[in-house]
Amino acid sequence: MPEGDTVFHTAAALREALVGRTLTRCEVRVPRFATVDVSGSRVHEVLSRGKHLFIRVGAVSIHSHLKMDGSWRVFPRGRTRGRTPGPDHKIRILLEAGDVAAAGIDLGVLEILDRDHDMDAVAHLGPDLLGPDWDTELAAANLSADPDRPIAAALLDQRVMAGVGNVYCNELCFLFGRRPASPVSMLADPIRVVTKAREMLWANRLRWTRTTTGNTRAGQQLWVYGRGGEPCRRCGTRVARTGQSDPTGERVSYWCPSCQC
Ligand SMILES: [Zn+2]
Repeated sequence: MPEGDTVFHTAAALREALVGRTLTRCEVRVPRFATVDVSGSRVHEVLSRGKHLFIRVGAVSIHSHLKMDGSWRVFPRGRTRGRTPGPDHKIRILLEAGDVAAAGIDLGVLEILDRDHDMDAVAHLGPDLLGPDWDTELAAANLSADPDRPIAAALLDQRVMAGVGNVYCNELCFLFGRRPASPVSMLADPIRVVTKAREMLWANRLRWTRTTTGNTRAGQQLWVYGRGGEPCRRCGTRVARTGQSDPTGERVSYWCPSCQC
C-alpha cells in the first residue's frame, strides 16, 4: 500500500529519470486534461509532499496521488519497443524524454495544475514526515488536539501529519501498546509517537521492501499489519483484525489483544 515512504521513493526515481530533460512525449489519458501536452518542455523538479507527488514541467505541475493501487514506473523506452509495462488501459499518463519513459498507472488523482500555485493542493496537510517542513512539536500537538478521537483516525488524518497510511498506523499502535480504536488520550507521550513515525518512514524512504521490525526478510517485516490470526511476535497471542466492513481494506485494523489496550 503506498504511504509517504513509497511516494518519496517514487519521487526520487522520477527525479533521477526526468529532471533536466526535455519531454519528447506527453500523453494525459484523463478526459479533463487530455488536451494538455507539455512535450517540448523541460522537467524542472519532482517533489513529494506527504502522499502527493508533483512533476513540474514548463508552466505546469503534474499532480498525482497514488491512493490504494497507483504507481509510477520508470523504464527505458527503447527496450519495450514502444510498449509500456503493465496493462495499457490502466495507464493514466505517459511521459517520454529521449530514451527514458515514465508511466503513471491507476493513479487515484491526476491533475494538471498551474506550476505557480501547485502547493495549494497540499496546503491542508500537516507537517510532512519526510519533508523539509517537518515539525515534531506541531505534529504532536495536532495528534493530541482531540483527546477522544480514535488513535487510528488521528494518525491517518493527513492534516495531523502527512505520510502515515494504514500500515504505519497499525504498526505505531502496536509499538505504543494501544489499540487503533482507543482514544488519543491513551497515548502517554505524543512526541514519542510522531518521532517514531518519522523514524520508521525515514528508514524506509529509499527501499521498496518496507520493514518496521528491522527485518527485511519476507514474512518478517511487520509486527501486526496483514497478520490477522497469526501469532504476535512478542507474546504469541493471535493478532486480531476488524471485519471487512470497508471494501477498500484501507481502514482494516490489526492489533494484539494481549500487548495492546
Ligand atoms: Zn502480543
